[in-house]
Parts: sequence; structure tokens; C-alpha cells
Amino acid sequence: MAHATVGAVTGNLLDGWRAEEYGRSRDGISLRVFMPQADGPVGGLLIAAQHGEEAATALLARRLLERVSAHETHWALVPVANPDGLINGTRQNAAGVDLNRNFPSATWLPDDSFTYPPGIEPERRVLENRTNRSSPGERAGSEPETQALIALIERLRPPLVLDIHSPLELVLPLGDVPTRLVESLSLAAGLPVVEALGAPCPGAFDAWLVEAGIPGIIYEVEHAGLPALCARHLPGLEAMMRSNGAL
Ligand SMILES: [Zn+2]
Repeated sequence: MAHATVGAVTGNLLDGWRAEEYGRSRDGISLRVFMPQADGPVGGLLIAAQHGEEAATALLARRLLERVSAHETHWALVPVANPDGLINGTRQNAAGVDLNRNFPSATWLPDDSFTYPPGIEPERRVLENRTNRSSPGERAGSEPETQALIALIERLRPPLVLDIHSPLELVLPLGDVPTRLVESLSLAAGLPVVEALGAPCPGAFDAWLVEAGIPGIIYEVEHAGLPALCARHLPGLEAMMRSNGAL
């Protein structure tokens, strides 16, 4: 596929970012990566809205594109990894697949997975309330969004991937992530650094990253309004993008 620039980015509050289509969703929607100005290796890849019900993460990524010029960073951004889900307000893509259970890692399982419905009260986050049912896909890596993201990462070879989710409020480093960066993200947002999530996530994106030898950070924000999310999370994420690996 030619990596043609799509969309008129100039005049759209974005300074220098180039939007490229890196694939299409199950429903045929353009998957877009925003590339920095500098040629050469990217400094990292930030991904948001892999779960469509976590719309605030896409809005945070968009705010980063507006606040950090493409001339100031070597990071690339995918603000919406799951546009089907974002449009439908669902965790899953248009085929009912949780993309974060569809990656071809050794942990992939053919069983449906169950998660909490979005917006559930924190005190109701107990096992029997995991009523949001997802398919892991007909096979590992079956979904076009999964295939496209893998191809993008294999093309860009980012030294680090930061994957934004909600609502767990944590920073989870995976693999050989610079300690200073983890500490600075944690400090800037007041997020705890954890070593694992509480529940098994077969076929998760992060498991695939680990197997591919690509350091990753899961960055989970809280359920909150956008002003609060921006105030808490953008300073640290902006500093990460501007540091270009110096943190
Ligand atoms: Zn998520």
C-alpha cells in the first residue's frame, strides 16, 4: 500500500502532522497514523482508542497532536486504533472482536472474553459483573485492525509503544522501558506504576509487543471529564513526546 497522506491536516489546528492511512477497519473506515515531520526512525508510537468505548483516550491523543508540533517530536500517533468501536460506542470492532484479545501472541485463546461494561461503578467491578462479551476473533490476528497495526509497527519499528486505555489509573511498563520515562509519567500524573494487571488478557496487544521485543507502556487513565483528564495527563505525555527519548 502507498502511504499517501490523507485528509487536510493543515488548517485543522495541527502543525506539520502528516496523516497516513495504514489500513482499513472491519467496517471499511480509514485507520490513520499521524507522522512527525522528521524523516528517519520514530521516537515512539502512541496508540489510543483500541477500545472504542474509551473515547476519552482518542480525545487526549487529539489534544496532544494540537499541543505538540510535528516539528518538536519524533513520535507517531494513532489516535483511533478502533474506529468501528468508537463510532458504535463499543469496546469491540464491527465484528464484535476485542482487538486487545486478537493479537497473535502465544497467549491467544479462542474463547470469548468478558469485561466490565463501560461506566460501571468502581464498587461493582467484581467478577460476576463482567458482562461485556467479546470475541477474540476467528483466529489469532484475524481482524484487519490487528493486521494493520502489526504491519505499521513492523514498518516503523518504534523503540517504544505507549498504549492508552481507561479506566484503571496506572502505568504498566513492559520489557526494556527506560526507568526515567516511567518515573516521569508516573510523577507527572500521580499514577502508580504496577507490574501486572489483575486479570489475564489472552491475545493482548502488550503480549504481542513483548514477544516482538518492542518495549511498551500501558497507560490507563481514570473515568473523568475531559478537562480533568487533560489537566492530569497531558503534561507528562507532552513532555514524553518532546523529549524524543531523552527522558
Ligand atoms: Zn482498554
